[in-house]
Amino acid sequence: MTDTIFSKIISREIPANIIYEDDLCLAFTDINPQAPTHILVIPKKPIPKIEEASEVDQNLLGHLLLIVKQVAREAGLNNGYRVVINNGEDGGQTVDHLHLHILGGRYLSWPPG
Ligand code: 5GP
Repeated sequence: MTDTIFSKIISREIPANIIYEDDLCLAFTDINPQAPTHILVIPKKPIPKIEEASEVDQNLLGHLLLIVKQVAREAGLNNGYRVVINNGEDGGQTVDHLHLHILGGRYLSWPPG
């Protein structure tokens, strides 16, 4: 497992605007926001992508979704938001550590590009 920018955020080797943390995950604002609110929720376990998650990660994946909901509510996204997981090259994934994007604060068109 190679270190990614996100594992360095978990270990505090590089700074981030961390808005939530527990034993299993971390949430912080995206450095290049694509919406007025753009937050990333990541597991502390270095799963490279959703494709590589397995049965043993079932509870962790459920936890991440519930934290997404909690973080979105605390960010005031009362009018809705989008949750995105990019997977692999065609999915537009650029960091090989599983992350859930929370995007909100404006109307988000569909389908995405
Ligand atoms: P992906 O394209 O892999 O789904 O999303 C990676 C996200 O990580 C991008 O939205 C990008 O802006 C964000 N990102 C990349 N490097 C950093 C960083 O050093 N700090 C923070 N906070 N976000 C980052």
